[in-house]
Amino acid sequence: MLILLTNDDGIRAPGILAALKVLRELGEVHVVAPETVQSATGHGITIATPLMTYEVPVDEQTVGISVDGRPADCVKLAVNQLLPRKPDLVISGINSGANVGINVLYSGTVAAAIEAAFLGLPAIALSLHLVKGVPDYDHAARVCLDVIKRLIADGGVAPGQVVNVNVPGGLSGDQKPRGVKVVRQCVRPWDDLYEKRLTPTGRPYFWNTAKFALKGTETDTDVGALRDGYVTVTPLKFDLTSFDALQKLDGRFDA
Ligand code: MN
Repeated sequence: MLILLTNDDGIRAPGILAALKVLRELGEVHVVAPETVQSATGHGITIATPLMTYEVPVDEQTVGISVDGRPADCVKLAVNQLLPRKPDLVISGINSGANVGINVLYSGTVAAAIEAAFLGLPAIALSLHLVKGVPDYDHAARVCLDVIKRLIADGGVAPGQVVNVNVPGGLSGDQKPRGVKVVRQCVRPWDDLYEKRLTPTGRPYFWNTAKFALKGTETDTDVGALRDGYVTVTPLKFDLTSFDALQKLDGRFDA
């Protein structure tokens, strides 16, 4: 199996290295990832500047290719130009920080996986919820590998399908998550907060200090299940059509 591994934290991030080490168990892994940190850049692509590429050793066995662009650029370029053939599976992550709730819409990690799904490939986004203390990416990677194996068994992730996986934080050694829950995406908004400050010359600027509160969220959502200590599995779709509204509007513009 040929696996494309990418992320949004950049090719030198600890999460992609941990993912690489475990994914070798499943096949030949090619790393194509952003040259710089691209968190919360969503599904942007680069169209007006060149996509510079660089060979970057990821570990002793693998030289990856970094792309001076967005996560979605990496997937497009990898599939179109850089890989020896079309990948059988695309993995994005392991992201530093959870991608649950509406964060899914901002996430470059998820955007890379969605891009792969656009291209008709099976794709899985992986993220680790950060809590107090040093995150154990190797532990998270072992949890992810187990989930990936169960997802892909018997073609569980179809071509063109994307699955979003989040691992609870604070686990290490032989500690295990409470379990794995298949859950819907939470659509509650953030508590948006901006701190206003002044530059030395008196010009106002704003710092985003928004908090993503996990408290009180429904247990059947990705946010709630992750808060409760479960690995979350959420299949996503990229067709943004509202089919309810489509039916209501249908015929309204007929002559
Ligand atoms: Mn990130």
